[in-house]
Amino acid sequence: MYNKSKELYADAVKVMPGGVNSPARAFKSVGDHPLFIDHAKGARLYDVDGNSYIDYSLSFGPLILGHADDEVVKSVQDAAVKGTSFGAPTELETTMAELVMERVPSIEMVRMVSSGTEATLAALRLARGYTGKSKILKFEGCYHGHSDSLLIKAGSGVATLGLPDSPGVPEGTAKNTITVPYNDEESLKEAFDKFGDDIAAVIMEPVAGNMGVVPPVEGYLQFVRDITEQNDTLLIFDEVMTGFRVGYNCAQGHFGIKPDLTCLGKVIGGGLPVGAYGGKKEIMERIAPAGDIYQAGTLSGNPLAMSAGLATLSQLSPESYEYFGKLADMLEEGLTEVFEKHDTPITINRAGSMIGFFLTEGPVTDFDSANTSDLELFRAMYQALLAEGVYLPPSQFEGMFLSTKHTEDDIQTTINAFDNALSKVTG
Ligand code: PLP
Repeated sequence: MYNKSKELYADAVKVMPGGVNSPARAFKSVGDHPLFIDHAKGARLYDVDGNSYIDYSLSFGPLILGHADDEVVKSVQDAAVKGTSFGAPTELETTMAELVMERVPSIEMVRMVSSGTEATLAALRLARGYTGKSKILKFEGCYHGHSDSLLIKAGSGVATLGLPDSPGVPEGTAKNTITVPYNDEESLKEAFDKFGDDIAAVIMEPVAGNMGVVPPVEGYLQFVRDITEQNDTLLIFDEVMTGFRVGYNCAQGHFGIKPDLTCLGKVIGGGLPVGAYGGKKEIMERIAPAGDIYQAGTLSGNPLAMSAGLATLSQLSPESYEYFGKLADMLEEGLTEVFEKHDTPITINRAGSMIGFFLTEGPVTDFDSANTSDLELFRAMYQALLAEGVYLPPSQFEGMFLSTKHTEDDIQTTINAFDNALSKVTG
């Protein structure tokens, strides 16, 4: 059933570490080898063995309009014909900046980069340069890309591979990163009591998406906003995953909280390599060449990526999020019923077009509770779901993503697939 994928993987491991260019796709926690993809369209993914799947990974989130959306493809084609990169400004970059600022009111100025990792790395440098403080605070289980100071208790790929930290992160760097549990006001307060004078920034996913989906508990984001303000610490929302997924105005619009800086990626690139960071004008004007804090990129604001991102954002409307809500309601109800029928515990957490399920009684509110999920059962379910034609992100610690191309029929097929998969694995 997966013979060609298996063969391609055997070739790939000889020339790339683990056979992949990013560990999250390696299937380490769900199978022997990843599936190799031939092509994809809408909500459907087609592997090299001719199997097709309803895709809930969507390249780990970016493809909110589904794969190979006609307008996105055309905009990329049109841009490519005109030249793929100039190392000089284009109007597209200003149009993108204006659109991002219109949708995300806390962003008064923005800088495009080429990945989410670059966005968070640059936002931290800016926060340190602006405040003159050296420490940063992050939450256990939140992932902000793979830069040294953020690869500490970092969830998803790292959690899946069972690496608490990564070798190669210097001790001195790790010392400047404080970690506290997510959704825990007391721990955050203690950290500020202890290090308050020296915390340049708190960086957080406003809905955590890299320990599975873990939304903030009622009042938590406001608490974080207040304590950062009281301590002259910048609040950075890492909306690389939640941006334009949790709501039309991102998670910050949905929850009504204004961070000082915001990191974006994934959806704003429409499937091409993009990241961005932005925020208060007074802070952003410290970035070179307007200011003295350096950050640069050969391909930043790339015309193909800007075109794909603009074609994506301009097709999203408030109604898109109502549609995601309707599909997510249907999926949650269906899965709850199916798991009850099979007498298997499940906890479902949701935010906009992000849906996470944990194989545990729950509730799941932080990294420790996320880790109570039954990983053996997840692995077995994952394989059974593939056989049923449903492709999830290959880790318990990643959520499922919806696109505008998923239909109610897809959701019903998925619920039935879970029913069949559970029959198979729980007997
Ligand atoms: N921040 C968050 C919240 C993410 O989910 C990710 C990637 O999954 C990143 C940052 C890093 O983005 P990239 O993989 O584009 O470097």
